[in-house]
Amino acid sequence: MQNSLSKIVVTVVFMLAIGNALLFAADHAAPSMAPEAALAKLQVGNEHFVTEANSPAKPTRARRLETAKSQHPFAIVVGCSDSRTPPELIFDQNIGDLFVVRTAGQVVGDYELGSIEYAVEHLGARLIIVMGHARCGAVQAAIAGETAPGHVGAIVRKIRPSVLAVSKEAGQPLVNAIKSNVHHVAGEIRQEAKLGSLASQVRVVEAYYDFDTGKVEWLDKGR
Ligand SMILES: [Zn+2]
Repeated sequence: MQNSLSKIVVTVVFMLAIGNALLFAADHAAPSMAPEAALAKLQVGNEHFVTEANSPAKPTRARRLETAKSQHPFAIVVGCSDSRTPPELIFDQNIGDLFVVRTAGQVVGDYELGSIEYAVEHLGARLIIVMGHARCGAVQAAIAGETAPGHVGAIVRKIRPSVLAVSKEAGQPLVNAIKSNVHHVAGEIRQEAKLGSLASQVRVVEAYYDFDTGKVEWLDKGR
């Protein structure tokens, strides 16, 4: 009797342990790709975009069907809403490859940080690209004044400190301000995104996209 009771206790403890392990495993999605490999893939993709007259037709039906039930994007791109800066095209990627967060001036707040946290924790992304671009209208507005009408004012106020931070630097004021804003946003993500135990696996990289060349310049490849 004593013996069978202890067997039951051992079995229950064992089952609980397995259950916990499964719960823990289900808690975080497995990494889609290591950040170094993900960055290399984006660099190759941008090279295709720059050099090939016609990128392969995308999206493809096969990829749409393949990703219909689940997604494992290998990178997060935080970019500007500017219609000339679609990350999937600039990096020559397909449906399901990139988790994209876009706002004017790629500013981030609660909704954007929440989106990033979701993609890291539940979709397995480990690389975050913060990408500014040439002649960004949002940064131009922040250079022009301290505020703007309507909700645009919130964007301008958010970018303004990045403009002031480089106002005395040599070079092109707009380009300096755009890169300063990228750096500021990347810093916010590094500091404020709540990634828990996954934070050490995540790399935040700063980039600048130039319309004229089609090239993405890597400003800071992060840690
Ligand atoms: Zn822009």
